[in-house]
Amino acid sequence: MSLVVQKFGGTSVADCEKILAAARKAIRAQQDGHRVVMVVSAMGKNTDMLVDLAGQITETPPAREMDMLLSTGEQVSVALMAMAIHSLGYKAISLTGGQIGIRTDSSHTKARIRSISTQRVLNLLDQGYIVIAAGFQGIDEDFNITTLGRGGSDTTAVALAAVLQADQCEIYTDVDGVYTTDPRVLPEARLCAQVSYEEMLELASLGAGVMHSRSIEFGKKFGVPIRVRSSFSDYPGSLIAANSEAPNLPVSGCAMTKDEARITVIGVPDVPGVSRRLFQPLAERKITIDMVVQNVGMDGRANVSFTVPRKELKAALKSVHESIADLAQDTHPPIEVHSDDQVSKVSAVGLGMATQVGVANRMFQALADAEINLQMITTSEIKISVLVSREQALPAVRVVHQAFELAQVPPGAVTEAQIPVAQKPVDAVDVVARLQSVGMEDLMIHEVTLDDSQAAIALTGVPNSPGVAAAIFQQLARADVFVDMIVQSYFTDENANLTWTVPRSQWEKAFAVAQQVVDLGLANHVQPYPTIAKLCVSGIGLRSHTLVGSLLFEALAEANINIRMMNTSEMRFNVVVDGRDGERGLRCLREAFGHYVR
Ligand code: ADP
Ligand code: ASP
Ligand code: MG
Repeated sequence: MSLVVQKFGGTSVADCEKILAAARKAIRAQQDGHRVVMVVSAMGKNTDMLVDLAGQITETPPAREMDMLLSTGEQVSVALMAMAIHSLGYKAISLTGGQIGIRTDSSHTKARIRSISTQRVLNLLDQGYIVIAAGFQGIDEDFNITTLGRGGSDTTAVALAAVLQADQCEIYTDVDGVYTTDPRVLPEARLCAQVSYEEMLELASLGAGVMHSRSIEFGKKFGVPIRVRSSFSDYPGSLIAANSEAPNLPVSGCAMTKDEARITVIGVPDVPGVSRRLFQPLAERKITIDMVVQNVGMDGRANVSFTVPRKELKAALKSVHESIADLAQDTHPPIEVHSDDQVSKVSAVGLGMATQVGVANRMFQALADAEINLQMITTSEIKISVLVSREQALPAVRVVHQAFELAQVPPGAVTEAQIPVAQKPVDAVDVVARLQSVGMEDLMIHEVTLDDSQAAIALTGVPNSPGVAAAIFQQLARADVFVDMIVQSYFTDENANLTWTVPRSQWEKAFAVAQQVVDLGLANHVQPYPTIAKLCVSGIGLRSHTLVGSLLFEALAEANINIRMMNTSEMRFNVVVDGRDGERGLRCLREAFGHYVR
């Protein structure tokens, strides 16, 4: 008998009428012959209200007590849901995370699921109950209540679907499915029939709040078909599964992380181990860093810029000041730390960009035409992110959405009717068994690889004004150069730095373009790096597992290898090092990550 997990978000259970409507959906599914597990979020804005209450008592509530408080929201809604189903004449039982046996680690307010017991839920389902699980919560080894991070009920739902071998996980929410961008931000956004796990993982972690990104990690690891649909209509919604809607599309969606902050550290000694010194303490505090840009060292000093979520800026700055405290003592001129919390990250995501020329250029040109200044740029295989001032974020999303014609159905897109009835991959059972024994949400690395077929070019002294990146990458696209990684940051008003990698076979062509750029006065200096090595750690959920950065910086610092460039995505963490360090870097990273290769 098939099993479905149905998750109802806050707005879908915001009042008693909506709770009854959700109850009816579950009952209908049971009548259609499914065993039904519901996962329910706190009613409406209840969690926000609880956060606010805590804030009225203290600015720094202990994380353990925060979890005790926040978990009550879901306890209210599951009890009411069970009552609703009873009142309609059906059998239902509500269970907290602890009662189900959702075991997590002890990192309060951002706990990760280690294992889930299935016996009790399966027994209850066999007895004809609709089982209603409280979303977003679990218990640690000492029976402390933990929560999974805001929006975490999606993760509860997909994790339960994985361990229960559900046929489908349905996410009921307040929009009709996954759109090309947030439809509340951009009304012209288009509903997608299908989205691949990779794209959704990236979009979710770059700001598409419709899904908790960690839920997609589960989806991908365990092959759970996820259907996102509306609580308030009968539209089929969007399927999140292995394939995308139109695989060759360079960009299939865009997202915005409105509340970002940028930290720039100017004048750090350019020696191996600096990344470790700055970033490892941040990783240990579980602060996710993104858009990391380190410029080419001048006079033995380098500048480093990166972004953190705005609400973590204070903690991140404290960590950075601690990290540089002893370095700063004998560094003249002194190391400077600057920050800006009025910035937003706008990203374009698409599987097709991994193989196509000129995608970045198209995005930069459109932004330049709209006079939007790009303060930072970073790319990975399937995404391009730019940092802009917060007031330009919304116009930037609109421009990117238009530039890639996202409002139109792409040629060759699958239609709802063509989507096959989703099938779980055959080895899902094995994966569940294996990962239950180590920790379901533990880091999962696929492999560590070395690509020594590329070269890099760095431009320094690039002016801080709209259109510069567009001009440069337009020239490269015209010359048919395939650009892989791009990183750019403005360290001071005059001193921006822009680095990119190309296949070594195209290096001369790319260098000639860079030289022209200097001749045109768009940069002061071009620095060639004909022999670089790109080391790639690939896996699932690499950005959210801050452990990855920690292990990587530590391993390379121990081996005395300097990191020249890096970029991160949910599926890959790439670092560029000197060509001569490639083989050695590969060996030490393989050793560092060996334990996590699954
Ligand atoms: P729930 O309470 O059901 O979990 P959320 O508020 O967490 O709902 O997620 C749904 C919201 O996500 C939508 O109302 C929409 O504004 C936002 N959203 C952001 N990006 C997207 C996107 N690409 N597609 C659909 N919705 C999106
Ligand atoms: N109630 C929690 C929150 O608001 C979890 C969730 O809704 O997914 O973040
Ligand atoms: Mg949500």
